[in-house]
Amino acid sequence: MKGRLFIIAGCSGVGKGTLLNLFLERNPKIKLSISATTRKPRKGEQEGVNYFYISKEEFLNSIKNDEFLEWTEFSGNYYGTKKSFVEKTLNKGTDLILEIEVNGAKNVKAQKPDAVTIFIMPPSVEILEQRLRGRHTEDEETIQKRLNEAQREISEGQKFDYKIVNDNLEDALSNLQAVFDKEGAKNA
Ligand code: ADP
Ligand code: 5GP
Repeated sequence: MKGRLFIIAGCSGVGKGTLLNLFLERNPKIKLSISATTRKPRKGEQEGVNYFYISKEEFLNSIKNDEFLEWTEFSGNYYGTKKSFVEKTLNKGTDLILEIEVNGAKNVKAQKPDAVTIFIMPPSVEILEQRLRGRHTEDEETIQKRLNEAQREISEGQKFDYKIVNDNLEDALSNLQAVFDKEGAKNA
């Protein structure tokens, strides 16, 4: 039996990372895919844990060699999911989560219609901005770019299989767990 593929998207600062850290602690058999990116590591982020941090040249090379299941340019940086990692994990029977932005999510869903898409919604755009600023990891220009993407992402998010509002964190976590349970994730 192959593993199931789950795709989680949502605006920058909505709380995807926070939710997923807690979710994966509670569901240790489910794996999170590690993407490649050309963005610089944030304070506290680690190579091979949060991302594989590569140069633009290496990234363009991987595109040329058809190594990505999907890739995108977001807010001035490249991000991509390696085919080999996804296929190896699913073939082992392990359920896998991709935490990617909406274009990547659409692209993967078109290739793998069985994938379950989940969009994490902010309670409001004002709260999204507060969270993004409150994280203190981006400069003003980056915050503005990310907020500019938010409205488009929220409208794209309406087409996802499931939508979860991350207002109260514990409520959002139980709603996320309920989706995985319903979809028959092995560890759920
Ligand atoms: P993302 O991974 O979607 O960019 P993060 O997980 O980094 O977002 O969360 C952005 C900020 O919002 C962090 O400072 C985090 O602690 C905070 N946060 C996340 N979820 C909630 C929540 N339900 N209520 C209040 N603050 C939250
Ligand atoms: P961040 O810079 O905040 O880590 O990520 C910015 C955005 O890129 C987030 O929406 C995140 O989900 C998305 N992202 C991360 N990795 C990938 C990837 O491999 N592919 C795509 N399409 N988006 C990604």
